Amino acid sequence: MIKINENYLKLKASYLFSDIAKRVRAFQEANPDIQVIKLGIGDVTRALPVVCIDALHKAVDEMGTDSSFKGYGPEQGYLFLREKIADNDYQARGADISPDEIFVSDGSKCDTANIQEIFSADANVAIPDPVYPVYLDTNVMAGRTGEIKDGRYEGIIYLDSLPENHFIPKLPTEKPDLIYLCYPNNPTGATISKGELGKWVDFAVKNQAIILFDAAYEAFIRDESLPKSIYEIEGAREVAIEFRSFSKNAGFTGTRCAYTVVPKTLMAYDKKGHRHELHPLWNRRHCTKFNGVSYPIQKAAAALYSNEGKDQIRELTDYYLQNARLIRREITALGYNCAGGEDSPYIWVDGKRSSWEFFDLILNKAGVVCTPGVGFGKCGEGFIRFSAFNSFENVQEAMERIRKIL
Ligand SMILES: *Cc1c(COP(=O)(O)O)cnc(C)c1O
Repeated sequence: MIKINENYLKLKASYLFSDIAKRVRAFQEANPDIQVIKLGIGDVTRALPVVCIDALHKAVDEMGTDSSFKGYGPEQGYLFLREKIADNDYQARGADISPDEIFVSDGSKCDTANIQEIFSADANVAIPDPVYPVYLDTNVMAGRTGEIKDGRYEGIIYLDSLPENHFIPKLPTEKPDLIYLCYPNNPTGATISKGELGKWVDFAVKNQAIILFDAAYEAFIRDESLPKSIYEIEGAREVAIEFRSFSKNAGFTGTRCAYTVVPKTLMAYDKKGHRHELHPLWNRRHCTKFNGVSYPIQKAAAALYSNEGKDQIRELTDYYLQNARLIRREITALGYNCAGGEDSPYIWVDGKRSSWEFFDLILNKAGVVCTPGVGFGKCGEGFIRFSAFNSFENVQEAMERIRKIL
């Protein structure tokens, strides 16, 4: 008799986005004349940079001629892209990462989800609360947790991210083997300084742990003192894997391209305590289960590293940052405490009531959609997340409506 993976039954059904959609639909039916403004979802709204469109057209034409046609490419990504990544995103910032330490993929969601496969099933896992739900759910699926009780899974080391610690969790008293960190953070919008990140790197070194660093929002960093990569921190090559994506910097959410960095100096242990390099393990996983990102998409991603490409990313992210600043300014002026909105497209608001009460209030009175913070973890209760991914005009209109009702 075929049996299921019962770990899937432990998953807390995620009603968050379907619940939001249901309430928005009900509001829209009752108020057909009001245009609902969505500041909820973490998806971009503006078109791909022109350099990408040009590169896509050219690459598609190449695929139409036998002499320049491309079949399977290298699973890890074409060297033309990996070299640009290593030069621009790392070497230029003093981080010593080489092209063969970079694995190009079709998304950071998959990479942050799949990476846990190369670690033992009994690894102790530390996960921030609140955070991007993928880290937790994939460890539940892999059987690294017990049941959920009172909103928390047994066996997980939760890293509480709260206003009193500026949404940078304290180092845990337990000894984790795997530590997830995400900065600039989704959903809190918080950033981490080199000093604070350095403490985590030292902690990982001391505990023979690995940090999984999700830098999906690095392109929103304007404060030059903040690290864009964990490899800007001394010692990180020995303890960290980094995830980057073209989704939020260049609008690739529907185009799909990302990459993961696994330094060749990264080691982990077998049961007998012998050290093993992680790079060949991830390489094996990647090549066995993935067949590469399509050639035109990799060409489009590579085009972002030209001077025009860099300018176009800057223009896109500046646009969303202007929205973020406006939201932060307006919500703060109404007497609410906010995090994020600077160096990040998310604004995390202490709603002074339950997350869902705040959500319902601004939906039903103002026709504005946000995301209830409790959907990102227990510590998100009482907060809501505004996303800056919309047009400036819509954000202005949304803020005007909210000002009238709060
Ligand atoms: C959007 C996002 C990603 C990127 O996911 P893709 O699969 O590359 O689109 C990764 N991590 C976080 C925290 C995100 O919010």
